[in-house]
Amino acid sequence: MSTINRRQIFRLGASAAAAPAFLQAQSKEPRSIIYMVADGMSAGVIPMAEQFSKLVRGRGTAWNQLLSKPGVQRGFMDMASLNSMVTDSSAASSSWGSGSRIFNAMLNVLPDGTKLTPIGTLARERAKRRIGLVTTATVTHATPAGFAAVSPRRDDEDLIATQYLDNVDVVLGGGKRFFDASKRKDKRDLAGDFAKAGYSVSYVRDNLKSAPGAKLLGLYDDSHVQYVVDQRSDKKMQREIPSLAEMAQAALTALDAAPNGFLLQIEGARVDHAAHANDAAGLLWEQVAFDDAIQVVLDYCQKRPDTLVVITSDHGNANPGLFGVGKEYEHSNQAFELLTKAKYSYTTITRRLGNAVEYKGLTTDAQRGITKPNADLVRQVIEEDLGLKISEDEGRLLRTAISRGQFVCVNKQLDNVPGVLGQVIGNHTGVGWVGTTHTSDYTLSTAFGPGSELFAGLVKNTDVFVKLTGLLGISFKNPSMDAQKAMKYMASVPRRERVDWA
Ligand SMILES: [Zn+2]
Repeated sequence: MSTINRRQIFRLGASAAAAPAFLQAQSKEPRSIIYMVADGMSAGVIPMAEQFSKLVRGRGTAWNQLLSKPGVQRGFMDMASLNSMVTDSSAASSSWGSGSRIFNAMLNVLPDGTKLTPIGTLARERAKRRIGLVTTATVTHATPAGFAAVSPRRDDEDLIATQYLDNVDVVLGGGKRFFDASKRKDKRDLAGDFAKAGYSVSYVRDNLKSAPGAKLLGLYDDSHVQYVVDQRSDKKMQREIPSLAEMAQAALTALDAAPNGFLLQIEGARVDHAAHANDAAGLLWEQVAFDDAIQVVLDYCQKRPDTLVVITSDHGNANPGLFGVGKEYEHSNQAFELLTKAKYSYTTITRRLGNAVEYKGLTTDAQRGITKPNADLVRQVIEEDLGLKISEDEGRLLRTAISRGQFVCVNKQLDNVPGVLGQVIGNHTGVGWVGTTHTSDYTLSTAFGPGSELFAGLVKNTDVFVKLTGLLGISFKNPSMDAQKAMKYMASVPRRERVDWA
């Protein structure tokens, strides 16, 4: 692990002189903190994204470059939750946001109902920082919510939305329906209330105003922001939906005017959703978009080196990787290049095939209106939308999975539409998956700026809260519960019907 201290960096001479401004912080405490999360990013994504980025935009990724810069801290995070070695996003973000491990599917609440105070609230009230949440999921989704909301159920997004009012200064992402009087259960015009409280409210890209000092509420879909790969094939979406980098830029412009600095979380949320769907091209386009946001943050820190930046993930998901293809693996690169031909996400493709794989679509087969496409249509759609020819056998196998006719896979994790689609496409692209759910892998983290040395090596998720509050000069400890005591509450906590798509 990197344990280079500042003096050693200085001794390296040339690198110290040439170090970019964002690595030359003078103070020990950061004025502002930017916490970036590639949700559900397994470690194998980094090298694949590096190669994919070179193929589609002629250069590597900012994240990969950071990994080899002297003075940048590299580490791992142990993200287990209170009831499982495998965390969901709400327990993960709550562990960073409260310093306590909790049950999956809850948000800053202990199993006995004790409410925790999230870091956003503490930073705002005790450290006078402004707060921002930027995501490609619904803004009320688990990861942003873990920094600023409290709810026994992560899926109570109507409730979470109300908690942002006058509590979070910049809120950008999807989830318009949770602010819309006609779609909220209580019929409250929450977007109207935000406007009355002085927020500049925007629903299309052009209106994403980034006036300094402004409070912003920007909502660019009723649900999650559309997948990048789908946006690329749709001019209207391109016009109307800001990129994650554009939202990050708007947030930074607004928050930079904060007299005492800010705490901003930026989430590339749909890396996770594409991983659940075993959609390699969809995932890599999301990762590249996340990388564009990293570049925006790097540019900002050139001007404000008193900013701590942590870039990490909340858990692995499905653990994708490029496998050796052909004799001496000589066809792996060629196979991987096929991913650049994809025009649509698996969500869009499976919709064409009559069985939409949607991250939010936790419905029954009957509600989904499943049809049974013939194998020729399956092959045709794959060719048109993904740019590759699958065999007749593969077409039949996919048809069977889509129409749920019979048992297809030994691995139960993969015996579903995304799993089978991922395997069939993986036969051609070389990208394999080990499942369709989160994993217990340590996540990667990269940090720079004042206080970043605290993020070197293996860091327990709850210690992130201790480190961040310490750097913000906040002395506060939330209550916590040990795992053994927590188990007696297992039967009584609220459950979602399906947890395998969390
Ligand atoms: Zn997930």
